[in-house]
Amino acid sequence: MSVTAYDVAIIGAGISGAITAFQLAKYNLKTVVLEAGIDVASGSTRANSAIVHAGYDAKEGTLKAQLNVRGCELMEGVAAQLGVHYSRCGSLVIGYTEKDLKHLKLLMARGEVNGVPGLEIIDEKRLHEMEPKVSQDAKYALWAPSAGIVCPYDLAYALCENAATNGTKFHFEFKVSKIDYDDGYYIVCDGKKKVKAKYVINAAGLFVDEIAGMVGEKLPFDIIPRRGEYMLLDKGEIKTASHTLFVTPSEKGKGILISPTVDGNIIVGPNANVVDSKLDTSVTEEGLEEIAEGAMVIVPSINLDATITTFAGVRATPTSGDFYIQESKKNKRFIHVAGIESPGLASAPAIGEYVLDILKNCGLELTEREDYIPTRTREGNCKLFYEMSEEERVEAIKKDPRYAKIICRCEMVTEGDLINAIHRPIPAHTIDMIKRRTRAGMGRCQGNYCRARIAEVISSECDIPLSEVKKFYSNSNLLYRKTK
Ligand SMILES: Cc1cc2nc3c(=O)[nH]c(=O)nc-3n(C[C@H](O)[C@H](O)[C@H](O)COP(=O)(O)OP(=O)(O)OC[C@H]3O[C@@H](n4cnc5c(N)ncnc54)[C@H](O)[C@@H]3O)c2cc1C
Repeated sequence: MSVTAYDVAIIGAGISGAITAFQLAKYNLKTVVLEAGIDVASGSTRANSAIVHAGYDAKEGTLKAQLNVRGCELMEGVAAQLGVHYSRCGSLVIGYTEKDLKHLKLLMARGEVNGVPGLEIIDEKRLHEMEPKVSQDAKYALWAPSAGIVCPYDLAYALCENAATNGTKFHFEFKVSKIDYDDGYYIVCDGKKKVKAKYVINAAGLFVDEIAGMVGEKLPFDIIPRRGEYMLLDKGEIKTASHTLFVTPSEKGKGILISPTVDGNIIVGPNANVVDSKLDTSVTEEGLEEIAEGAMVIVPSINLDATITTFAGVRATPTSGDFYIQESKKNKRFIHVAGIESPGLASAPAIGEYVLDILKNCGLELTEREDYIPTRTREGNCKLFYEMSEEERVEAIKKDPRYAKIICRCEMVTEGDLINAIHRPIPAHTIDMIKRRTRAGMGRCQGNYCRARIAEVISSECDIPLSEVKKFYSNSNLLYRKTK
């Protein structure tokens, strides 16, 4: 059996793999992305706080600090280039005591060394003008105007869609389980399928250590899975906060935050608990209580009854405390993008640049493609009905009457939007893929009214029986058997 040869194989389609694919797509290269999950953003990138941190948290001189500040600076441009919702809303770290104020000053000094622009310590008057609902006990805040928010999975899809448009191949449900080396190529297998590549990028998130083990390497740190749980509040609560609100960090960590999201919800969380399994995304009663308590310290009047969903994500926390992005010491042309815990999302644009530089230094020849397509604008092909102006809606319905059929009432998603998502460069063929690309099922009713209709559209458009439509994973069929 012939095995397709690539210049570069990227293991993992989280934000680290996605940004690497996006960077490489500019050049005349054959690149493949191998992802264990059914979709882009199947790991930590799927469930996190979505904050583009300014960069005052990471210790001075670390790779994390360097890439966070640079990533934050680049994010707005990348988001605009790809038509991804982003807002530079700024963040406030709130202090209540003299001890907190001392800590805020330390954070500010660290941020200045790291190169974070515009940091300021503000007093309670200004804080309450900016955020009227913040506790009256709050006395100070560290204001970071460069911080922002972005949708993590939309960003990852956009990066991968752009790469796919420029010729990058994607294999989903390709869980790398063995890597051999033969005649200048790494042979990367998932048990059944294999590809070969001259260069490999290990961007497997929580599983980078296992991938390193497949080439006989032990990373110089362990990966500890730390779960963070969340509550997401209904859009009606958007006035709770207009900036990302943190409390002053303690020995227990950054604490609970409250933030607007780019889609107009309020996100509350996360806690941070070490879990036994890297795949443990369960939500617990104690976890939710911890989050509720933490949130009420910041905004005592927060309406947690407006929670529309809860979820959890798992951080790939390295015991070394820093990002580890470098060529393997044992295996030439094998690059680890490891230990990418928070602020991995914020740092992503800079991680892409950094990996590209490593590849250049490892001898990868980069000549620019003449037919490179740099954008993925919403105007061009992925603008959703709810984002369109009245004129654009009339035009969309004229071209395709399915844009007149509202499927998700909460988020105003039409059948036309669903069909567009099903046929995009990285096609959506499960309920959750549709949800994350169009927001159908993400509103107040969480899909209770529209899930069946979405399943019907997938079934008819992908030409599969309704009983074969999945929620997310390969064995998550919605329908079990006929009852009548
Ligand atoms: C609770 C929480 C809150 C966070 N908040 C923020 C925040 O506000 N701001 C911020 O900047 N960062 C935040 N982060 C961190 C951020 O989410 C991560 O740094 C980032 O998503 C890591 O991306 P990644 O691509 O390295 O890993 P992942 O997103 O985990 O991607 C790795 C991919 O590799 C795939 N994979 C694994 N094993 C294999 C295999 N054997 N074969 C093929 N594919 C494989 C996985 O399926 C996965 O899709 C948070 C993280 C968590 C969990």
